[in-house]
Amino acid sequence: MGQYDVVIKGGMIVLETGEIQADIAIKDGKIANIATDIDIDNDAQIISASGLHVFPGLIDTHVHFNEPGRTEWEGFATGSKSLAAGGVTTFFDMPLNSHPPTVNKYGFEAKDMLANEKSLVDYKLWGGLVPQNLSELEELHACGVIGFKAFMSNSGIEDFEAADDKTLFAGMKKIAALDSILAVHAESDVITEELSKMLGAEDGGAFSASRPIYSELEAVNRILSYAEATNCKVHIVHISSSEVLQPILAARRKGINVSVETCPHYLSLTVDDLNQLGAVAKCAPPLRNNQEIEGLWKAIEEGAIDIIGSDHSPSLVEMKQGSLKEAWGGISGCQSTLSILLEEGYWKRGIPLSVIARITSTNPAKRFGLYPNKGNITVGSAADLCLVNISEKYTLTKEDLYYRNTQSPYIGKTFRGKVKQTMLRGRTVFQDK
Ligand code: ZN
Repeated sequence: MGQYDVVIKGGMIVLETGEIQADIAIKDGKIANIATDIDIDNDAQIISASGLHVFPGLIDTHVHFNEPGRTEWEGFATGSKSLAAGGVTTFFDMPLNSHPPTVNKYGFEAKDMLANEKSLVDYKLWGGLVPQNLSELEELHACGVIGFKAFMSNSGIEDFEAADDKTLFAGMKKIAALDSILAVHAESDVITEELSKMLGAEDGGAFSASRPIYSELEAVNRILSYAEATNCKVHIVHISSSEVLQPILAARRKGINVSVETCPHYLSLTVDDLNQLGAVAKCAPPLRNNQEIEGLWKAIEEGAIDIIGSDHSPSLVEMKQGSLKEAWGGISGCQSTLSILLEEGYWKRGIPLSVIARITSTNPAKRFGLYPNKGNITVGSAADLCLVNISEKYTLTKEDLYYRNTQSPYIGKTFRGKVKQTMLRGRTVFQDK
């Protein structure tokens, strides 16, 4: 047996603190050495990364893979293949879209068995916090959920009810006692419900206005108060505006343990895209305008946003056709996260690559207890790596997508930044043709 199994030669390594040009040697799935001109014996496989950047494998904290129960929407095999093609080596699957949902041990085990069998990359499962499952939280925690997810507004899935205030409060007390974390979809149920009733026209602007920023703010403020009262760690998913960030930052200054996520679509698409593309760009919270996009990028630059999750929320193609009001609210996009961040962040706005590595890998690993094994490129860490040609230009086609249902608002868009190879614990799980 040689000293190393694989040596990646001559790449530019993207660390959370900056970039260095060096070789990476891998042994038994772990990074064994990082140095310039590592000596190679005959047994090692050599991968030339000259001209490429080596990112820590992305950690997508927010996908909806639907299996079991709605596997025709997406499944672990197709979903994880898409992720691997996008440089993602670990994902966290949301608890609501499978049937049964992940609200008890039975639901966890049903999903875990399939994910374990079919996923190409590493994964963790979110457990759900819903009315009537308070007595299940402890057992779910023991199963190994990465945290709990609650909806403050309608989830769109009948058997995953929104958590009312009493459920949230009692759930947060329990989750705090378990030293786990609650992720929340923070939109006001009352405001979104009432304003949606008045929604008639097939207009993206009207849809966006029916789920306004102040509805997110109301929910965020409420959950932050509960976090203060219960000492529960919270993670606010998919904020659509930097306005929503302000109370979160203020709470953090007060010592409340809160992190925040936004998604590639809030950083690159607007209501105009929703009008142009139709329901394929429908999501909740909805797309906003250019000013909000710039506000979110500024927040990323300042380090105020911790994590980018794709919120890949696929459906059957026919569920995205027909009326905007009735269409499934969720965007399929998990394959494109890194390309979007490179094109829109690095190339157009000068966001450093190290910041992109931080929000896609280091920060999620730290927040959810996977660091330092995952989330960075250092000796002793898992060799979860993604080799990227940051200047390679390509236009996304339907045929590029590995999703079960090949729809995406990014089809036809041109990006600079293409994933060439993805490795999970030293093993190649994706290779660009
Ligand atoms: Zn989601």
